[in-house]
Order: sequence, then structure tokens, then C-alpha cells
Amino acid sequence: MSSTEKCPRTEAISARVDNELVEPARIALDAHVAGCAICAPVLAEFRQLRATFAALPDVAPNVDFAFLVDRRIAATGVPKPKRQRWRWWQLAPATLGAALSLSLGGYLGGALVLGSQVAAQPAALQMAAFTAIPPGGLCPALQACNSMGR
Ligand SMILES: [Zn+2]
Repeated sequence: MSSTEKCPRTEAISARVDNELVEPARIALDAHVAGCAICAPVLAEFRQLRATFAALPDVAPNVDFAFLVDRRIAATGVPKPKRQRWRWWQLAPATLGAALSLSLGGYLGGALVLGSQVAAQPAALQMAAFTAIPPGGLCPALQACNSMGR
């Protein structure tokens, strides 16, 4: 490029300083800047700026900025947003779900307990042979010996 050609955009010169340009564009820009009285100082300024920024020390804040901002907001007198209170209708689905869960648990638990009694009943009938009344003994009334009348 000669100095009579159109100058590149400032972003392109900045990209050159950051080594972000690909090979053909970088060579063309270098050739233009070498012969241009406008672009050469811009490139030099960007390089100086980059070197200055690179020389700055890394800063690690040792202050909790959130606390400072909160304190400043509190000092302005702006009220804090209120916590949302639950309304009864917002708790209704959870309450209904809890009630259904407890009911289902009670039903299933009752089925388990009743099922175990049914399974234990034949064993109780087998143990009826060891009652105080000998087998073949007479019962004065059907319900007097046991519930089955034996
Ligand atoms: Zn130029």
C-alpha cells in the first residue's frame, strides 16, 4: 500500500497491536503504516498504550464491594424489597399433596398390617389344638371355646 491509498480503520490498527490480524492483512497494514504519516503515530500510540497497560500491576481487591454498595444503598433511604409472604392459596397445592401422600401412606400401611393378620390367622387356628379344652371336648356354647366354635 502506498500513502495515497485509503487508510485502514483504527480497529484494524488496534488488532495489529494485539496480534489479531492474519498474515496477508498484517503484511498489508504494516506496509501502509510504514509509509503513512497518519497511521504511523496511531500505531505507535497503540503500542505505547499496550506497553503501559502491560506494565500495570495486577490488582486484587481486598474489599467486599457488595457490602459497600449495600451500605450506600441503605444510606440513600431506599427501602429494601419486602420478603414475599406466602398466601394461603399458594400453599394449597402443597397441602393437598401432603394430605394425599399421608392418606396413601396410611392406606398402604393398613393394607400391609391387615395382610399380615390374614397370613397369621391360619397359624392361630393351628395353635387352637393346644387349648385347655381337649380335642373332641364339648363346648357349652359355640362362642365359649373360641370364635370359630370349635
Ligand atoms: Zn494511513
